[in-house]
Amino acid sequence: MSRKILVVGAGQSGLQLALGLQSHGYEVTLMSNRTADEVRSGRVMSTQCMFHTALQHERDLQLNFWESQAPKIEGLGVSVAAPGSFDPGPSQRAIDWVGKLDGFAQSVDQRVKMAGWMETFAQRGGQLVIHGAAVSDLDYFARTYDLVLVSAGKGELVSMFGRDASRSPYSEPQRALAVAYVHGLAVRPEHPDFDAVRCNLVPGVGELFIMPTLTTSGRADILFWEGVPGGPLDAFKGVKDPSEHLALTLELMEKFVPWEYARATKVELTDANGTLAGRYAPAVRNPIGRLPGGGAVLGVADVVVANDPITGQGSNSASKCAASYLASIVEHGDKPFDEEWMRTAFDRYWDTAQHVTKWTNAMLGPPPEHVLDLIGAAGRLQPAADRFANGFNDPADFENFFYEPEKTSAYLASIS
Ligand SMILES: Cc1cc2nc3c(=O)[nH]c(=O)nc-3n(C[C@H](O)[C@H](O)[C@H](O)COP(=O)(O)OP(=O)(O)OC[C@H]3O[C@@H](n4cnc5c(N)ncnc54)[C@H](O)[C@@H]3O)c2cc1C
Repeated sequence: MSRKILVVGAGQSGLQLALGLQSHGYEVTLMSNRTADEVRSGRVMSTQCMFHTALQHERDLQLNFWESQAPKIEGLGVSVAAPGSFDPGPSQRAIDWVGKLDGFAQSVDQRVKMAGWMETFAQRGGQLVIHGAAVSDLDYFARTYDLVLVSAGKGELVSMFGRDASRSPYSEPQRALAVAYVHGLAVRPEHPDFDAVRCNLVPGVGELFIMPTLTTSGRADILFWEGVPGGPLDAFKGVKDPSEHLALTLELMEKFVPWEYARATKVELTDANGTLAGRYAPAVRNPIGRLPGGGAVLGVADVVVANDPITGQGSNSASKCAASYLASIVEHGDKPFDEEWMRTAFDRYWDTAQHVTKWTNAMLGPPPEHVLDLIGAAGRLQPAADRFANGFNDPADFENFFYEPEKTSAYLASIS
């Protein structure tokens, strides 16, 4: 008899898991609080830039439906505004380089991908239930399914999963987020022949990320401000009108990152739902959710490990979590999915996820001297730029050259 699994939440992790389990012959029910059409015509949710390893998990399941249409992101660049450069007068970049990715990255608007995957899941015979699950529903389902996976992102269901304070150094949001999807952005003049994620750091103020994406109206670019709370970029709170959001995005670009503003003078929003603003505190949670009736459910991806998007890792991690859990489920065969199994499945995922959390939390703080040296040196030493860029694909590599001053200087000496 095939095993019955309930997946609650149809985002990157829930859909990838549901489709993966379905292809392995499991009887899967997927619960989503929105229909595919509602997702497709709704608000943007992310910038969802995914690097090689995460994309490969999708390819392994033959779910890379948009690969040929989405822009191929071949590099990752870093620019740092010179201190005081946004005071009146000529502004400069203290640092500006681009590293080459070993394998390309891509961003497919989650409105396109999740809507498409939901339809595929249903077409392949999966049971898609449109319902916003409450804890009381899960109490019932935990008794009728062999396993309940909660992949509901940062929504209310996280309240079932206790925060792990030892792994969660921040209790407050560390950045105010403001996203705008646009058409009409000109290329970066430094590398007109290939696309890159551009990370613009404004010390003490925040960051502007720019990346190409495939959205509902074709190719577009995303302008994504991350502002230190209470600072000048933390200005989007009361802004409801999308054109006002874009105007503010551009005004801040002109002031703080004029080299990016220079190529953005002709942009327009992709659609009226192409903006997003918000903030959340990064958190690692206990992976096992306890239900009032005594049952247990396993948390997936953002439910259990939610990092700030400053390093663009959440969708990557969701893909890696889904791939890891899928392997743990399949390998477990017919044995019961008890709490011990849940703990082991999470620990296996945490082997990778811990590196993402460590690096992301480090990037939220002011950079220490040796990290500034490293980022500066990458402008002169292409191997350092390339290695930093490829760290976005495999953040475990930062252990080798990023956190400890001795390792950073030894690495830089080895390539100088
Ligand atoms: C501004 C911003 C920029 C980002 N940029 C990047 C980036 O460049 N690269 C990257 O890798 N990551 C990025 N991320 C993070 C990434 O989007 C998330 O980490 C990722 O989508 C998490 O996947 P998930 O499956 O855990 O949850 P989600 O994608 O959030 O999916 C959860 C789903 O569950 C549904 N749901 C919620 N509650 C219920 C309920 N009670 N019942 C049923 N369904 C429910 C939701 O509607 C949603 O569809 C960004 C995030 C933000 C906010």
